[in-house]
Amino acid sequence: TDPGRIRNFCIIAHIDHGKSTLADRMLQLTEVVDARQMRAQYLDRMDIERERGITIKSQAVRMPWTVREGDQRGEHAVLNMIDTPGHVDFTYEVSRSLAACEGAVLLVDAAQGIEAQTLANLYLALENDLHVIPVLNKIDLPAAQPEKFAEELAHLIGCDPDDCIRVSGKTGEGVPYLLDEIVRQFKPPVGDPAAPARAMIFDSVYDVYRGVVTYVRVIDGRIEARDRIKMMSTGATHELLEIGVISPEMQKADALGVGEVGYLITGVKDVRQSRVGDTVTNHGRPAADALGGYKDPKPMVYSGLYPIDGSDYPALREALDKLKLNDAALDYEPETSGALGFGFRCGFLGLLHLEIIRERLEREYNLDLISTAPNVVYRAVLDDGTEITVTNPSEYPTGKIAEVYEPVVRATVLTPNDYVGAVMELCQGRRGALQGMDYLSTDRVELRYTLPLAEIIFDFFDQLKSRTKGYASLDYEPSGEQRSDLVKVDILLHGEPVDAFSAIVHKDKAYNYGVNIAAKLRTLIPRQQYEVPIQAAIGSRVIARETIRAIRKDVLAKCYGGDISRKRKLLEKQKEGKKRMKMVGRVEVPQEAFIAALSTS
Ligand code: GDP
Ligand code: MG
Repeated sequence: TDPGRIRNFCIIAHIDHGKSTLADRMLQLTEVVDARQMRAQYLDRMDIERERGITIKSQAVRMPWTVREGDQRGEHAVLNMIDTPGHVDFTYEVSRSLAACEGAVLLVDAAQGIEAQTLANLYLALENDLHVIPVLNKIDLPAAQPEKFAEELAHLIGCDPDDCIRVSGKTGEGVPYLLDEIVRQFKPPVGDPAAPARAMIFDSVYDVYRGVVTYVRVIDGRIEARDRIKMMSTGATHELLEIGVISPEMQKADALGVGEVGYLITGVKDVRQSRVGDTVTNHGRPAADALGGYKDPKPMVYSGLYPIDGSDYPALREALDKLKLNDAALDYEPETSGALGFGFRCGFLGLLHLEIIRERLEREYNLDLISTAPNVVYRAVLDDGTEITVTNPSEYPTGKIAEVYEPVVRATVLTPNDYVGAVMELCQGRRGALQGMDYLSTDRVELRYTLPLAEIIFDFFDQLKSRTKGYASLDYEPSGEQRSDLVKVDILLHGEPVDAFSAIVHKDKAYNYGVNIAAKLRTLIPRQQYEVPIQAAIGSRVIARETIRAIRKDVLAKCYGGDISRKRKLLEKQKEGKKRMKMVGRVEVPQEAFIAALSTS
């Protein structure tokens, strides 16, 4: 394809502002998907994506579009649309998708206005030198206020309110005009067709039948179907089995030239060999320099995953191996817990990532799991000068630590004016430091905070939503680390420390934390045959204590030896209840108890 006819663009927006729905309309209007095949959020192919209505993996689709010039048909263009994930955990994927485009459609819900991720995505787009077309979506809604939000959006971008295009992804209104403007406003890609091939990987997915499918955007040169390619970060080379474009399913091609977006298949079985951000070149005629931007995904949040039934351990390992094929950011290694037995310490990009992996393990691999309360990664300098990385709180070497550092994030909260006080109170309670405050309009405020990551991974977002009646939005990015006064709080059940309950907490919060968690566990752990003391301790100092009273509960006593089938039912019910329990020493602990810390603050 002549690069002059290509337009590569992405749709960026705050979550739920309608990216996937708009993408659907574009697929339909360009006749890439016909009405019969159409289903909502066509590009969200994973089950979890469809159920939760969110996009996790980016997708790229090629669509033909002919611009209308009055009654005439004008330029025949080829559009490559890249649908991006909207959640903070996947910001890195968004930024790679952006780097594959010349333009971005910035979508804003006309009933909601600008939100935290609208800003974060806009800044990312501008950093990547993309031309931005501002679009107000959902104009079909009775609550839409396109005039008001066009003002806000224009003010933010520095354009005229009339430049904001109004559409409805639901009804399709305004979408053909938007497609025309995409061709008119976005620049075609430029690259050197004669140079050695360079293509940027912006996504790679594992397919059971085909192995790893790598999505690329060609910057310079050409990639041909029979080439041997080389990954520039590792030097690994692979024979190409197939190349092509997606429209909306895979279509083989002979070559991909400058500016084209398509896929490569090499028979590689692991996405780690085809990493997002890496540069693909030709083995026989390699490029001298890789494209910028490659970075290894780094887990930010850790949690222990344990099978409830110990004999599921090999199945868990196998399932993690399989998920890893499709997720370069997932990290895991075996660990043993005194309380929970054999399991894995797993690293994730964030809480949503953790939740998704956990859900997939349970759903797709039929595993019953216990996951321990998530924690961040600490860097400790010991008295003798050695440095250690702590990914499991129970391994925190109490007493020998000179200094300890915890990760911090730069957080942006957007809130209506009325809730500024509530947001500040929440952030201060979470050890936040206010960095700045701006009025986006008379009633919308942007607050910037530095916050310890550990303070926001638990229930910060829920708290923020409930304190602002759902109006505030949040975005954050890693921002290095800070030295902090942290201690390890241990929990003892029946006098025995339970490693899976250990947590690292700020010194000023340790006492409250201990009291809360002990009280919480008392309500979560059912009465047993004997009395069970619960203690919270820092080192050998007990800071809180609760007791679960003994009970003798014979479910059959009620049945007076009568109806046998009723008896059996009761026994079965009791067994069911037991399945979700884990024996810790002599105490039966239900699964909820292991994440009780989540709702304690
Ligand atoms: P995404 O998270 O940005 O991909 O948003 P989705 O496309 O999944 O849309 C979020 C919700 O908004 C869904 O319930 C959509 O049906 C709804 N939605 C999207 N576009 C429109 C629109 O133009 N009008 C109306 N009324 N609802 C829309
Ligand atoms: Mg979506």
